[in-house]
Amino acid sequence: MTTIDTELAPLDFAVTKNLAAKSAAEREEILKNPGFGTVFTDHMVDVCWSARGGWHRPRVQPYGPIALDPAAAVLHYGQEIFEGIKAYRHADGSIHTFRPQKNAERMQRSARRMALPELPVEYFLQSLRELVAVDGAWVPSGDDQSLYLRPFMFAKEAFLGVRPAEKVAYYLIASPAGSYFKGGMKPVRIWLSETYARAGKGGTGAAKTGGNYASSLLPQAEAYEKGCDQVVFLDQDGNVEELGGMNVVFVFKDGRIVTPQSDSILEGITRDSLLQLAEDRGHTVERRPLSLQEWRDGVASGEIVEVFACGTAAVVTPIGALVTAAGEEPQPEGDLALSLREELTDIQYGRREDKHGWLHRLDA
Ligand SMILES: *Cc1c(COP(=O)(O)O)cnc(C)c1O
Repeated sequence: MTTIDTELAPLDFAVTKNLAAKSAAEREEILKNPGFGTVFTDHMVDVCWSARGGWHRPRVQPYGPIALDPAAAVLHYGQEIFEGIKAYRHADGSIHTFRPQKNAERMQRSARRMALPELPVEYFLQSLRELVAVDGAWVPSGDDQSLYLRPFMFAKEAFLGVRPAEKVAYYLIASPAGSYFKGGMKPVRIWLSETYARAGKGGTGAAKTGGNYASSLLPQAEAYEKGCDQVVFLDQDGNVEELGGMNVVFVFKDGRIVTPQSDSILEGITRDSLLQLAEDRGHTVERRPLSLQEWRDGVASGEIVEVFACGTAAVVTPIGALVTAAGEEPQPEGDLALSLREELTDIQYGRREDKHGWLHRLDA
């Protein structure tokens, strides 16, 4: 449960309008084909934190470069966390996001692990509303389009000693996003990383922190070389972890759904939501370790009937093949992933009843 701290006064944001904001015509042109993560809206949110002053100087300001001292701790020791969440435009024009308290709470857990301050849930939610208040026109209305919101926090104190920074910045930027899969969803080929791990016992695997991504880039490049789209990582015991940016889900013949659970996996909100929808349909969900051996045996025996990956950016991606140095292992094709995807996106875009109260309106 989210505990809303009713004692906490809202932040008093100072808003500076971007005088060089894109014109409506320029924006409309961009929104026709926004791609992913390359174009940003006209404004950003910026809140400071210091050990002495707490959260202060909340601002909405023109989107642009950040001035950092070259000794800023994040540039040397990687003390950084982020989140990813989308805003959806409904048919009546209203703007909604999806389970933002979950992202706010996860950002607090990431912050604890990375020795960063915990942004109150209310401030997190307020930052989303503040940005949408000035950049709401950037939420596209096309099929499968959304405004991708990227909250992040980093150590900005100029200090080369090694300890948690006493000066930190929280930012929120936004980028319009088109349909992730142009021309239909193709099952992806997944490279099994047998050389590199993404996380270890007691490490930072459960935190949404840049370092986890930095260490996944080399195996990801290896995957591309092998003609694959993504990497799947194992833990030290040979259990399946995740793709490094998406969680993995296995569907069994008897309707059971199994997803890896451990303290080195990032707990996806997309996964949690899809599994809730599956439970609503009568599926049994098991969150437990699943070994590479169980995966292979399950596919060989026909026990496993479908494997898919999920996360906010792409929502759901069927896995078509597991690829290793030894060769290619085709994966069974099912239709649960796509049917759950449709149900989830219908809720997000306001086309279906939101039984769980997952939507959170941002423009009112
Ligand atoms: C963000 C992320 C996911 C997916 O989480 P969602 O909340 O579903 O977007 C999965 N794995 C990692 C490592 C991530 O950073």
